[in-house]
Amino acid sequence: MDSLSGARVVVTGGAGFVGSWLCERLLAEGAAVWAVDSLVTGTRRNVAHVLDHQSFTLTEADVSQGIPDPGDLDLVLHLACPASPVAYLRMPLQTLDVASNGTRHALDLAERHGARFLLSSTSEVYGDPLVHPQREDYWGNVNPIGPRSVYDEGKRFAESLTMAYRRARGVDTTIARIFNTYGPRMAFEDGRVVPTFVHQALHDLPLTVAGDGSQTRSLCWVEDTVDGLVRLALSDHPGPINLGNDEETTVLDLARTIIGLADSRSEIDHIELPEDDPRIRRPDLTRAREVLGWSPTTSAADGLQRTIEWMDELRRAA
Ligand code: NAD
Ligand code: UDP
Repeated sequence: MDSLSGARVVVTGGAGFVGSWLCERLLAEGAAVWAVDSLVTGTRRNVAHVLDHQSFTLTEADVSQGIPDPGDLDLVLHLACPASPVAYLRMPLQTLDVASNGTRHALDLAERHGARFLLSSTSEVYGDPLVHPQREDYWGNVNPIGPRSVYDEGKRFAESLTMAYRRARGVDTTIARIFNTYGPRMAFEDGRVVPTFVHQALHDLPLTVAGDGSQTRSLCWVEDTVDGLVRLALSDHPGPINLGNDEETTVLDLARTIIGLADSRSEIDHIELPEDDPRIRRPDLTRAREVLGWSPTTSAADGLQRTIEWMDELRRAA
C-alpha cells in the first residue's frame, strides 16, 4: 500500500489519546476509518470533531471479547490498551486480557482480510533498561512479577503473538515501540507526568515529583508519533521500530520547565517513587531514520506550550 487514500482501516483504541489523533490523520489522508473502543480510558469527546465525518465510524466494543468486522480491510492498527500506570494498575486483569485476547482478535481480523497489522507496543518492553539509549535489539530488563508487569509483559506477549502470526500464518505484521508521547486530549486524571504537571502548574498546586526526580524520560509530541505510525503502517518493515523523541530530560527538570512555561507560582513536592519506576529512558532512533525517513520535529518547549494552552482553555471553559 503506497497511500492511505481510499484505504479501509480499523483502529482499535481509536477514541483514546493517540488513537484519536491517528484517526484524524487517517481521515485527512482519505482513508475510511472504523474506530473500535470500549471507552474504558478513552472518550467520545476525543473524536467529537470527526463523529460526523462520512468516512468515520466509532463502535463501542471490548476488543478482548471480539472485534466487529466491517468487511474488506487494508490495515488494522491495534492501539487498544490502558496505557497510563494509574490505569493499568487499576485494571491489571483487563490489561493482560486486551494485550493477549484483544491482540489475537485484531490479528485474526487482519488475517481474514489479508490486511497489514500494526501493534502499538511500548518502550516499557525494555523495562528498567541496562542499555542506554535503547535500541530495538535490546531484550530489556523487566520484572515479570512486579505490579507494572501486567503492562510490560502484556506488551511483550503481544509482540510475541504478533511475530508468531507473521511466521506461522503469514500475516503482514509490524510493531511500533512508542516512547512517552504527550499532547492535548490526555486526561490529567490518568496520572501520566505531563498532564499531571500541567494541571498542577495551571492551578498553582505543588508539582508531585516522584522520588528525587533524577529519573529520565524522553517526551514526544503526539503528531510526531502519529506521523511515525503512519509511515510504519505504509512501509513493509516488520519492526520493531522505536518511535519517540531522543531529547532526554529528568523529571525534576521537566517540572521546572512546565512551571516556567505556564508562568506558575507552583512549588515542587516530592512523592514516593512508584515500584519498578524505570530510572532512564531514551530511544535510539537510528532504525526509524533509516527505514522510515522519520524523526520527530517538535521541540519539547513547543509541544509543552501547546499542551499548556490546550489545558488552560479547557480550564477557562469549565
Ligand atoms: P489511552 O488510554 O488514551 O488509549 C487507549 C484506548 O484504548 C482508550 O480509548 C481505551 O478506552 C481503549 N481500550 C482499552 N482497552 C480496551 C478494550 N479492551 N477494548 C477496546 N478498547 C480498549 O492511551 P494512549 O496513550 O492513547 O495509548 C494508545 C496505545 O499506545 C496503547 O496501546 C499504548 O500502550 C501505546 N503507547 C502509548 C504511549 C504514550 O506515551 N501515550 C507510549 C507507549 C505506548
Ligand atoms: N511522575 C512524577 N509525578 C507524577 C506522575 C509521574 O514524578 O505525578 C514520574 C513517574 O514516576 C515516572 C515519570 O514521571 O518517573 C513518567 O511517568 P508516566 O506515568 O508519565 O509514564 P511512564 O514512563 O512511567 O510509563
